[in-house]
Amino acid sequence: TGAYLAAMQAARALNAYLVETPEKALAMAAASDERLGRGEARPLEGIPLGIKDLFATEGVHTQAASHVLDKFEPAYESTVTANLWADGAVMLGKLNMDEFAMGSSNESSYYGPVTSPWRRNGSNMALVPGGSSGGSAAAVAARLCAGATATDTGGSIRQPAAFTGTVGIKPTYGRCSRWGIVAFASSLDQAGPIARDVRDAAILLKSMASVDAKDTTSVDLPVPDYEAAVGRSVKGLRIGIPKEYRVEGMSAEIEALWQKGIAILKDAGAEIVEISLPHTKYALPAYYIVAPAEASSNLARYDGVRYGLRVPGTDIIDMYENTRAAGFGAEVKRRILIGTYVLSAGYYDAYYLKAQKVRTLIKNDFETCFAAGVDAVLTPATPSPAFGIGEMAGADPVEMYLNDIFTVTVNMAGLPGLAVPGGLSADGLPLGLQLIGRPFDEATLFSLGHAVE
Ligand code: GLN
Repeated sequence: TGAYLAAMQAARALNAYLVETPEKALAMAAASDERLGRGEARPLEGIPLGIKDLFATEGVHTQAASHVLDKFEPAYESTVTANLWADGAVMLGKLNMDEFAMGSSNESSYYGPVTSPWRRNGSNMALVPGGSSGGSAAAVAARLCAGATATDTGGSIRQPAAFTGTVGIKPTYGRCSRWGIVAFASSLDQAGPIARDVRDAAILLKSMASVDAKDTTSVDLPVPDYEAAVGRSVKGLRIGIPKEYRVEGMSAEIEALWQKGIAILKDAGAEIVEISLPHTKYALPAYYIVAPAEASSNLARYDGVRYGLRVPGTDIIDMYENTRAAGFGAEVKRRILIGTYVLSAGYYDAYYLKAQKVRTLIKNDFETCFAAGVDAVLTPATPSPAFGIGEMAGADPVEMYLNDIFTVTVNMAGLPGLAVPGGLSADGLPLGLQLIGRPFDEATLFSLGHAVE
């Protein structure tokens, strides 16, 4: 814990941590030492972790990297973090992220962007770590924590993991409790770990996952010993290669990465089969209707009355307006506007309802493949390696949304998705592969991911 606290201090220029909690960390580590002395080691005894700022942590700054939650300190702990502490883990601090987890580069944080510890060969340009869990990915990659919590609504665990050469898993919807996690799009949000390797991710997910009476969408299924799946043979597993992911304009580098992943799994004895997921091309536009719709509803609570920022006004309506105008950043306002529009009378059927129907078709595509004997699907995690901070600044917001093209399908279908490092780009940056599994079969993803990493 002491070594990580020192490393965090030395690496403050990365802006990965929004808050450091050294006193809490040292107290938790001391309690851990005491338990060890009594021979009572718990599964994560003394393991120092970073926590994404989206998780409510009792008495500790929780702002979802937004100005509207200014100085908010929850009186309660999220179920996921409570599970980690109960298993002996140590909290180092709260990690930077895109505001309300909206973004793919960590540049929408009220507290400024996170810098990736990676650089292109021969260049000193500061690169994004991906988003929205950019602080989590950068902190793990820069060794500023042993592992981190993250969340994934449309790729926010897998894309930053791919950009930083780390491992991230979004488990099946319902595997982790969402209680105490600031809500973005409730039907898509899931928590998961970002870690250095597949084994660490397996150990962390085991601790994070649980059924929870406080989240009725959490599922009452036993959580398997995921670590036991790491190193298990993948011989005979059927791996689907969806032809629709060979999108127009896919770079030769990403195509080569995909082929390399296929070759590794084939060598390990898996059977490779071409599959079709015909509704893939509708996933991104449907996601960018469903997610903002749910966000506009969830974010209605930030009104200056209950918590966080309050900007006074002439009357209560004026106060609401002033607070929301000052408290939300540009991307969050864009999502609220889109969401309010697609949910409004006259447009609901045309956009929101249509998108929900598309979502069912996307889910059915995967179900058809699984029913035909496919055990997992292999795709690239992202269409490109990390880009420079500010490089997308003047671009159409849709350019940024295109980062999520391979990851959002998994959230729309509620399936588990694992991102593992697959090699380096020509200019020396990490590239990630994605493995998509059957519902609640994260274990197979850990076996396959370990074979690939
Ligand atoms: N980039 C996506 C978005 O901005 C994903 C966000 C997420 O998974 N939290 O909506």
